[in-house]
Amino acid sequence: MPDFRALPSADQFLLSDCGAGLVALHGRAQVLAALRTRLDTARQAIRAGGDGAALAGALAGEVAADLARAARPGLRPVLNLTGTVLHTNLGRALLAEEAIRAAAGAMAQPMALEFDLDGGGRGQRDDHLRGLLCELTGAEDATVVNNNAAAVLIALNTLAEGREAIVSRGELIEIGGAFRMPDIMTRAGAQLVEVGTTNRTHPADYETAITDRTGLILKVHCSNYRIEGFTTEVPAPRLAIIAQAAGLPLLNDLGSGSLVDLSAYGLRREPTVAEAVAEGADLVTFSGDKLLGGPQAGFIVGRRDLVAAINRNPMKRAVRLDKIRIAALEATLRLYRDPDRLSERLPTLRLLARPLAEIAAQAARLAPPVDAALAPQGFAAAPCACDSQIGSGALPVDTIPSAGLRLTGPGGDAPDRLAAWLRALPLPVIGRIHDGALILDLRCLERDEELLGALAGT
Ligand SMILES: *Cc1c(COP(=O)(O)O)cnc(C)c1O
Repeated sequence: MPDFRALPSADQFLLSDCGAGLVALHGRAQVLAALRTRLDTARQAIRAGGDGAALAGALAGEVAADLARAARPGLRPVLNLTGTVLHTNLGRALLAEEAIRAAAGAMAQPMALEFDLDGGGRGQRDDHLRGLLCELTGAEDATVVNNNAAAVLIALNTLAEGREAIVSRGELIEIGGAFRMPDIMTRAGAQLVEVGTTNRTHPADYETAITDRTGLILKVHCSNYRIEGFTTEVPAPRLAIIAQAAGLPLLNDLGSGSLVDLSAYGLRREPTVAEAVAEGADLVTFSGDKLLGGPQAGFIVGRRDLVAAINRNPMKRAVRLDKIRIAALEATLRLYRDPDRLSERLPTLRLLARPLAEIAAQAARLAPPVDAALAPQGFAAAPCACDSQIGSGALPVDTIPSAGLRLTGPGGDAPDRLAAWLRALPLPVIGRIHDGALILDLRCLERDEELLGALAGT
């Protein structure tokens, strides 16, 4: 006959100091559910000959651990030491303080989102961003949607539904996940007309493809790859002339689309949105959380009549932005009005522009304490040179010289074991496996204590 008497009843447990403390933390329902699961397991163990007193003694600790695990958020912060500054899987751009404050304010207060404070009538949510976007890009008008994928989708649907959209074979890109340009065009109701070849497309390829069924010409920025060698593409200004002669709109999907010339920050030039507008595109689409450094969003800037048509598309309602992101975007865009201080205030630019010497000094400084923290696990750390990437499809084949820590250990599986150990920390540290070691690129580590604290498990 199994003896369960050492195990507490649910009531006894809830009334104990430990039980009451857990109820205060997690609520009665959660504690009861966790307790019942553990009591069942303990009873089974006793039936199998287990020691009731020992099982009862371990019970409170197990319930507390189960509850703590279950209370941990599913979406957790990590340290991005991958070297990819705009890492899509790690949430892309970090927001500026100004944007964070604006978003927090918008979360907690009613906002005049679609309310005209001058006249008291109905306003438009895009109004808060339109002026800034026009000012920063030189475009006539602007509208904002959920992300750049949505921007491309709604622009194609508005301008080319039931019609043909002409695009070069060299630009039929896949961005990742399920975003493939041909599929997006189909979903938008546009019929894809491919012109040219993978490596070469000429003006005549576009011109001969234009018929009375054509709805628009699409140009897509090769954001995550580059075709090199025997290549030619039709530059946007030339394409604009072809489109205009045929009375067709030219849509230029820039992808990352920087608002500033990155060469001013020691990076390679990436076409700016203002340039794409000036080159004659009727509409330009780009992301909010790539080089722009804001929250997830998609921008469509360009001709007023076309933007108005997009705003009238019923799809707009399905892809519109909420007040929180509008607030964060407005604050982010305002920072661009002061280019001199932009790289201090905008984390994306600040991280991309961090001087190599500063990162190298940080690596030299951090190597000894990190090595000491890893020694008990049998691992070692040494400073190393490495290469960062912008990420999210900006300047795909360019790297930025950086510095970091090279973590090693015994056995061929050491990098994988290291990566797993670092992922299991309370603040997971994400590095990159390269050349038989785990590299922690320090470009995105602005404060040493973050890494040291993470390794200490605090
Ligand atoms: C990234 C990208 C997209 C998709 O943008 P999201 O903001 O991620 O939706 C579309 N087109 C190009 C060229 C891109 O680089």
